[in-house]
Amino acid sequence: MRPDAPADSDSAETPKLLLPAPQSASTVRRRTLWGVLVLLVAGLLAMVVWLAGIYEANQLQARLERDVAEAVGDVRAFFEHNAQGLQALQHADPTPNSWVIDAGAFVREHREILRVEWRDSALRLQAHADTPFRAPAFEHQGRREVPSEVVVACANARRFSGPAYASSYFVSMADGLGQEVMEFCLPLQNGTKLAGYLIASYALRDVLESALTRPMTRNYQISFTEGDGTRLAVFGSSSRGSRVFTARQLMDLPGTTLVLRMDSWRAAPDLFPNVLTALLTAMSIALVAVLGLLGEDMRRRFRAEHELADVLAFRKAMEDSLVTGLRARDLQGRTTYVNPAFCQMVGFTADELLGAGTPAPYWPPESGEEYRQRQLVRHTGNAPPREGYESVFMRKDGSRFPVLIIEAPLINAQGVQTGWMSALLDISEQRRVEELSRAGLERLQATARLATVGEMASLLSHELNQPLAAISGYATGSLNLLRSDPLDGAAIAAELGVALQRIAEQSQRAGKVIKSVHDYVRRRDQVREAVAPQALLDAILPLVHLQARQLSVRVQTEVEAGTPPVQCDRTMVEQVLLNLARNGMQAMDSPQIPQRSLVIRVRALQANGSGKKRVEFSVADQGEGIPPEVQQQLFKPFFTTKPEGMGLGLSLCRTVVEQHGGALEFAANAPRGTVFTFALPAAEVA
Ligand code: ADP
Repeated sequence: MRPDAPADSDSAETPKLLLPAPQSASTVRRRTLWGVLVLLVAGLLAMVVWLAGIYEANQLQARLERDVAEAVGDVRAFFEHNAQGLQALQHADPTPNSWVIDAGAFVREHREILRVEWRDSALRLQAHADTPFRAPAFEHQGRREVPSEVVVACANARRFSGPAYASSYFVSMADGLGQEVMEFCLPLQNGTKLAGYLIASYALRDVLESALTRPMTRNYQISFTEGDGTRLAVFGSSSRGSRVFTARQLMDLPGTTLVLRMDSWRAAPDLFPNVLTALLTAMSIALVAVLGLLGEDMRRRFRAEHELADVLAFRKAMEDSLVTGLRARDLQGRTTYVNPAFCQMVGFTADELLGAGTPAPYWPPESGEEYRQRQLVRHTGNAPPREGYESVFMRKDGSRFPVLIIEAPLINAQGVQTGWMSALLDISEQRRVEELSRAGLERLQATARLATVGEMASLLSHELNQPLAAISGYATGSLNLLRSDPLDGAAIAAELGVALQRIAEQSQRAGKVIKSVHDYVRRRDQVREAVAPQALLDAILPLVHLQARQLSVRVQTEVEAGTPPVQCDRTMVEQVLLNLARNGMQAMDSPQIPQRSLVIRVRALQANGSGKKRVEFSVADQGEGIPPEVQQQLFKPFFTTKPEGMGLGLSLCRTVVEQHGGALEFAANAPRGTVFTFALPAAEVA
């Protein structure tokens, strides 16, 4: 992902302010999509509820149809069963009286039958029995005439030669109420001859009550209706609901047809018509909730992405503005990232650098192998020094320049190292300044050396005076010898030989004095080399002794046995030692100090934490010590307490020692005086 670059550097510093205006085109599109999604889910949910409602209604209707068919079967079977019961009344060839008893028993067992009549073949009444459960239905009508329905039923019976029914009719009762009654006629045979009829009057409502089972009558309202829907008899619960389901079925009976109708109500409009709908609704709600959560998650992700983009833009702006070169390499040594500062440093473009393996285009060809080895070492897991290391890179134009490289392992989010990240500094300018200051220092030191010699001029003249006087004395003596009378040529020759020998010795001595000064003053190349400590002391001792003799100081040197050579710039360290020795001797130049001794000690130091051996030099005098106010300014350039002093000695000494990685320290000497110490690195023994 490549975030858009910030519009300006100000906004890069405050990435939070970079958030775009809330109503961008993508926001509107996102909101529209979400709206459509919510609408779709709501529509789906409504449809599911609606379909479930329809399904449930269909289920109810189907059950109702089944139940009504069953009820029709029940009623039909009931009628047939009753017909058989009635048939049984005629079984034993009854007399009217005996028949009445049997018929009375029969109607007591069948509430739905209002009356049973036995009529002869001309429909004349032979006997009858009324139900005991209610007032005789036909009493007020008297049934003197044969009701037309009975006539129709019996005509049908005769025609079918079997039981037959007539259409129902309304019978009003004495109490003002009434009921629907259906006549049933059973022809009685005597051999092949018609012997009469058995007529039963059914109360239709009671038929429903007796023929149907309790569960059915409890759940439904059941009725017999006419073809046009007029209700003839109703039985069953009459609970009301908002929605009614109805099923009808024709019931064909011999001679008539009835319609059985069943009504069922649903109590309240169900939002959750059944478990399926409830389940679907719950799942839909869960779906919407999950969608909501997903939306929230996306929103958060979107925000996080946005913030990440801002942070990346911020970081990129930061990297682009850096003067430090940044370079990332994978574990195979291929360059995976460079920042503009690095490109500028080496003069290659990012495209030329990215993906480049070894040797890198900016490696000087002559050092390629060395760098490759260094990289191999790095990739075996050896971390480079924390403070970095120096190297030389090559620009595209072929020029070399020194760089300081600080490397750190590149760890990814899973904690696995994927390569190395390096920060690179072009140190050519720093090098130039260092070189300038080094040259300046060298010049200063040369000046200081000359000044030292200047200070020592009187000492030198005094020192040279002696051999010159001796030479002159021997020369005068020799001349006198030559001018004297030639007594004994051999003796003169021997004396002259001795004199000339002395002259030669003295001139050598003078030459040595001059050479020691010359050696000291002569400027040498600044190189670090391994030098034995004794050699350093030997180089300065002639000069030290010059002054020691003048100041009556006893100079003592102690070099511990087995002290290794030191790695140093010889000229500079000699100058440090000479300076310290001179300062020490000058500090003892006071009449109050009779015991004047200067001790220069050299000893090896035990290897410290870094494991490097060092050699300690100390110069101890027995002078008056350094007062506290002087201590504070001791190393300041041009600070001196001496009338002819320059005040550069200690300041230069400290610089030199520090350049060698050490520190110049001083402490009070016992029983009196001061001791200056510094340590130099021991030369590596090959
Ligand atoms: P200079 O010798 O030209 O004065 P230095 O920098 O060598 O310059 O010394 C600065 C001052 O430090 C001296 O003037 C002296 O007062 C003091 N000093 C240096 N070494 C000693 C010493 N060993 N004992 C006492 N004083 C010292």
